[in-house]
Amino acid sequence: MLRYVNYDIVFQEVPGEVTLSINLSNCPNHCKGCHSPYLWENIGEILDEHALVQLLERYGQSITCICFMGGDANPHEVEASSVFVREQTNGRIKTAWYSGKNKLPETCSPQNFDYIKLGPYMEKLGGLDSATTNQHFYRVDQGKMTDITYVFLRSNRKFPG
Ligand code: SF4
Repeated sequence: MLRYVNYDIVFQEVPGEVTLSINLSNCPNHCKGCHSPYLWENIGEILDEHALVQLLERYGQSITCICFMGGDANPHEVEASSVFVREQTNGRIKTAWYSGKNKLPETCSPQNFDYIKLGPYMEKLGGLDSATTNQHFYRVDQGKMTDITYVFLRSNRKFPG
């Protein structure tokens, strides 16, 4: 079961989108130097279809994208939530997933997202804005993942893991 601790409308986590960024808890990755270790606990409100509908009713007219931050303990629920958002909005609102894993679970399909970030946070290498980062950010078109991490390097801004 997915739980979220908080959310915010952000402008740079997903390039070109006005994004409702939802911070999911119960992160299993435990990266050294994690920006938000409170997300390691299984805490917060349940993020189910009812909660997503409420968020869409409240913010749906103000955003172009919903980003699931984390959720690696329940990847299939993240994927199902992404599919639900697209269905509810007829694709008007895009979806993104910030995963701390190096690759998608084999049973998850990239075509169920519009954007995917992969890779744990590694202090020595830095986040998406670092030239040495191990992380990758992809735009997904009809299931094809295109690496656009270079966009973050230009923006020169700190990004969550
Ligand atoms: S994936 Fe993100 S939230 Fe999870 S431990 Fe790593 S930096 Fe922290």
